[in-house]
Amino acid sequence: MTLHFISGTFHPGLNITVRRGLEWFRKGLIPGQTITLCVCPPGQDHTVVGQARVAFVMAAQIETIPDELMKYEHEPSCRTKEGLLAAMSRVLGEVRADEIVTVIGFEM
Ligand SMILES: [Zn+2]
Repeated sequence: MTLHFISGTFHPGLNITVRRGLEWFRKGLIPGQTITLCVCPPGQDHTVVGQARVAFVMAAQIETIPDELMKYEHEPSCRTKEGLLAAMSRVLGEVRADEIVTVIGFEM
């Protein structure tokens, strides 16, 4: 399975990415499963940058994601709820703090 990213900033160890809705939750990713990471900003080609291992998949409202987890967000500007909401809203249109999202944790 391939996860597509707008930002290709990752760090060693645990990273998280936050996806709107439950689509990714329902894909049935299993901890330990290998996923492919693709970086593809709008208007640019898909570039596979590597693979990672799924650590966990969690459904949550954005406002209830633990702050201890937010610090593992792969994109530094999204490590606060405000930054995350701003970044998601830029791409997806308005995203509210009470929206359901899927948090995917993956190990690099
Ligand atoms: Zn892609």
